[in-house]
Amino acid sequence: MKILIATPEATPYVKTGGLADVTGALLKEYTRMNHQPSLMLPLYRQIREHFNLTDTGHRVIIPIGNQRMAGRIFSHGPFAYFLECDGFFDRGDLYGTPDGDYPDNAARFIFFARAVLEACIALRLEPDVIHCNDWQTGLVPLYMRTLYHNDLFRRTATLITIHNLGYQGLFDASSLLLTGLPAEWFNPEGIEFYGRVNFLKAGLIASDVITTVSNTYAQEILTPEYGYGLDGFLRTRASVVHGIINGIDTDEWDPLRDTFIPATYSAGSLSGKRACKKDLMKECSLSAHDRNIPLLSFVGRLSAQKGLDIFTEAADDIIAAGIHVIILGKGDEEIQNTILSLARKHRAKIFVKIGYDEAFAHRVYAGSDLFIMPSRYEPCGLGQLIAMRYGTIPVARRTGGLEDTIADYKPLRESGTGFLFDDYKALSLKEALGRALCVYVDAQRWSRIISRAMAQDFSWKRSAEEYITLYADTIQKRKG
Ligand code: ADP
Repeated sequence: MKILIATPEATPYVKTGGLADVTGALLKEYTRMNHQPSLMLPLYRQIREHFNLTDTGHRVIIPIGNQRMAGRIFSHGPFAYFLECDGFFDRGDLYGTPDGDYPDNAARFIFFARAVLEACIALRLEPDVIHCNDWQTGLVPLYMRTLYHNDLFRRTATLITIHNLGYQGLFDASSLLLTGLPAEWFNPEGIEFYGRVNFLKAGLIASDVITTVSNTYAQEILTPEYGYGLDGFLRTRASVVHGIINGIDTDEWDPLRDTFIPATYSAGSLSGKRACKKDLMKECSLSAHDRNIPLLSFVGRLSAQKGLDIFTEAADDIIAAGIHVIILGKGDEEIQNTILSLARKHRAKIFVKIGYDEAFAHRVYAGSDLFIMPSRYEPCGLGQLIAMRYGTIPVARRTGGLEDTIADYKPLRESGTGFLFDDYKALSLKEALGRALCVYVDAQRWSRIISRAMAQDFSWKRSAEEYITLYADTIQKRKG
């Protein structure tokens, strides 16, 4: 099967969140399964700086309103293509600076969406299916069914994955002119959304199939609470909405072979994990008078979605309970300042590192006892999967993918891989942590929960097979 993955991010090239892990891992899995996948990304500055790319000799010229933007098509290895337009992508960041989004994001991702199709034509890729990801690629399916309908794409199936419905790509009505789409698309049945243009909605309208990254989230986006205004529209397409859970790259995240951590370990022999904890506490200058002190961590984007406000509210009690905390994250400045002031207040008990640090993340996952994800909503979540693989027990809110991947601990049945709570409240988080501590103090029970967590299979194999089945059905329907 010829599969084209159009995406704004993919590991190892460029990553700001879980979406990059998903697209990078799918490319690897499909290759292993002997399909013919390819990947298309914008050529951001950081990709050019870190990878030795080859100029394919092909160019694309894309109309953006009255302008014409040109760029070359680069490749890396046999599968990855990068669409150049330095005016749009040769910048310090992907989508914006801490002060806000780039003002020309509409034009940037109009360019990218059309360039994906132009590049397919130029490179004669003729994919059976184009798999789009998030709002940055939302226009691709709509272009395929409108401006490019007479081209090669009539029989090409499309699938769009919603990695996070909280980000929809909303732009002023005037950006419709930049898209080149007829004005009639600007209505509530089209890509209008409360007076603005919605790029994700374009993809949801025009794709053959819509997927999201867990079964629970696939249900939640049909409700007003998590539908972010698109639930009504999504309900009209409910029959083509599917949930496919994300996996993790189990080669990259493997406590037995991880080169970032000071000592490797497995479920059968946890002395390496204890060494990782000791090392981590030292690295973070946490008071280590008692090595049995439970160490709790958070790794993730500092955004309101991730629930750090209820953690902040609970922090004094968490510290009073004798827990030490490590937070690694980057994002919202206000959240950053709040947790930095917590770290100042609880010196040697809370350590905060602001920034994106892959190597440190590995050491945190390996060296911690507990991992919190108090998310307001969580489409899938990768942090809890990585944590479990490293024997670090998640304490998480029962929502989206967290609910689908963490089994709540049941003392009488001696089952479960983590601790879940329902209400988005500091008190509920504290109660779940309290339950976790009751087990933590019992070394035997704790080692059994670690074994169960580490025995879970979060590899991509099964999910990649589910995508392939869905592609095959969709291709067959489209080819009639
Ligand atoms: P989201 O996609 O909403 O950001 P996920 O839990 O799905 O959240 O994926 C986040 C991924 O990014 C995980 O692999 C996590 O380890 C990684 N990550 C997030 N923030 C950081 C950071 N500051 N430093 C290193 N890795 C990070």
